[in-house]
Amino acid sequence: MLNRVFGYPSFRGQQHDIIEHVAGGGDALVLMPTGGGKSLCYQIPALVRPGTGVVISPLIALMQDQVDALRTVGVRAGFLNSAQDYDERRLVEAEFVNGDLDLLYVAPEGLGVAATQRLLDRGKISLFAIDEAHCVSQWGHDFRPDYLGLSMLHERWPDVPRIALTATATTATRDEIAHRLQLADARHFTASFDRPNIQYRIVPKNEPRKQLLDLLRTEHPGEAGIIYCLSRASVEKTAEFLVQNGVKALPYHAGLDNRVRAANQSRFLREEGMVMVATIAFGMGIDKPDVRFVAHLDLPKSVEGYYQETGRAGRDGQPSTAWLAYGLQDVVQQRKMIDSSDGDLAHRRNAAQHLDAMLALCETVTCRRSQLLNYFGQTATTDNCGNCDTCLTPPESWDGTVPAQKLLSTVLRLQRERGQKFGAGQSIDILLGKETDKVQRFRHNELSVFGIGAELREAEWRGVVRKLLAGGLLAVEGEYSTLVLTDASAGVLRGETKVMMRREAPAKVRAPKQRAAAAPAADLSPADASTFERLRAWRASVAKEQGMPAYVIFHDATLRAIAALNPKTLGELGTVSGVGQSKLTKFGQQVLDTLHESASDAAPPPPPVAARPAASSRFGEPEPEPAFTFDEEPPDFDYDHEPPPPDYT
Ligand code: ADP
Ligand code: ZN
Repeated sequence: MLNRVFGYPSFRGQQHDIIEHVAGGGDALVLMPTGGGKSLCYQIPALVRPGTGVVISPLIALMQDQVDALRTVGVRAGFLNSAQDYDERRLVEAEFVNGDLDLLYVAPEGLGVAATQRLLDRGKISLFAIDEAHCVSQWGHDFRPDYLGLSMLHERWPDVPRIALTATATTATRDEIAHRLQLADARHFTASFDRPNIQYRIVPKNEPRKQLLDLLRTEHPGEAGIIYCLSRASVEKTAEFLVQNGVKALPYHAGLDNRVRAANQSRFLREEGMVMVATIAFGMGIDKPDVRFVAHLDLPKSVEGYYQETGRAGRDGQPSTAWLAYGLQDVVQQRKMIDSSDGDLAHRRNAAQHLDAMLALCETVTCRRSQLLNYFGQTATTDNCGNCDTCLTPPESWDGTVPAQKLLSTVLRLQRERGQKFGAGQSIDILLGKETDKVQRFRHNELSVFGIGAELREAEWRGVVRKLLAGGLLAVEGEYSTLVLTDASAGVLRGETKVMMRREAPAKVRAPKQRAAAAPAADLSPADASTFERLRAWRASVAKEQGMPAYVIFHDATLRAIAALNPKTLGELGTVSGVGQSKLTKFGQQVLDTLHESASDAAPPPPPVAARPAASSRFGEPEPEPAFTFDEEPPDFDYDHEPPPPDYT
């Protein structure tokens, strides 16, 4: 089935075991990172077992694409959701009842409806696949209330095997999924969560949009990517900024009209080199294989969320970048959002723990990857992964205990001697000995700590505050985010707690260059590369004609293999990974014709319009100046949904 339908020569990782187990009627809980190959784990058992596999998926907007992709490989698939019209629905229902479907996608809210349950009773179900199973986790970042009702599957259809799948995998989430979906007795399969092709980088935030543009221009020109922002307003502003600077960018957030959202998502999937600027409302289930970078302009709320979002890069296994810019204001902002949230104490404490783990990842002076894996309860094979910023350019770590003490004593003195609380800005001004209006007005220049911090730059002082906040050695309080000491501050002041800092890179130093070979034709000979480009152009025209994303026709990797093999017959073409029987019948002759044209051309064909810039021209070209100025707002206060907090109570 793997070979005939999907065209793949061998299983990956634990796929074989999982498929055997579920095909044999067993229940399974599968934890595998994004891009690991979860879909085959339920698709193949559904094809092998009699009846229809029912897939529960929250991704209504992607069901059509998922079904199209399956039909392209000859699988009889359909979906039922609320976005469908009556006639369509009736047609799919009839197909299901007649046993004409291998797979049926259903939205979780649909399953709660009695009519749907009666419908399912009228056909034969081969298995239930619960996709994105972490949506059942109430503490998680993607909670969907309808998932809680899914335990009824087991009660109503006790003999039908169930397989739950997710890419989110702390032990706590796994236990919660098993418990809520009554999968405690199911076999658990946990893959390694490492994504070695993704380069993890976290940089201090100075001028975020400019830093971002720099990243896109120097490392990912013309490539597809996702940029996450916290607020809707900053999504729109960032998208506009990128467009003004010549980047093909689109906005996506929950405040946009449904049709605009669907259209933008569809363009992102179908056009090459699109950049999606989005809130976290975007991305679950996006199976575009060639997303080359995921950038965060704001601090994610949890490591789970961060890993899920960055995991959308590089599903095709090619080098990709996960880049996050974070600053002091992110910490202040997130702490404040937690403090002022509606949830009960347990909820706030949970949110604070998630944030602390995220901050620890940002501030770490060790390998980001090993820290990420540790977080998911896995051990890295090495503590130098060679593909994160820490490993590529080891940061100097330095003993920041004395500066930390200076800062904490400033906060302490303001409170003890003056009965005042101020934000980070004023404390830093005092330490730097700045005679600002505000310093003079409050006679802060008479404090004994005034001017004792000239050894650090302002950005470094912000780093000290950030580090202290991240570690709970200092806290922010109230509407104005004033600094206050915590119980743990005393340890630092007494010299019992050491504070190790990550050295802030001087603003101008570039992050390490992406390793080469991101360009899809990079590892081909010049002749094969030109064949590859011709195949891509052919694929683009077919995709357009059929209204499907190009990668549904063939992946880049498959086209590359075809170009290198240069098959002369359909039989030969069928041996290429990714060419199954149905695609061979549908597209085989066209591919051979395209190869033949390419061989008979004396001159190499001109690159098609959609071709990427040649690898040699990707770096080192003079860059146009950005069309935006950045001095209208202080760099660290780049939030759009709230004015920067005033510094004084
Ligand atoms: P996930 O759902 O775990 O994020 P997918 O099921 O979408 O991942 O698989 C990721 C990609 O890997 C898909 O393009 C899929 O076709 C491909 N893939 C999955 N299993 C195999 C395999 N055994 N051999 C080759 N490619 C595979
Ligand atoms: Zn590393």
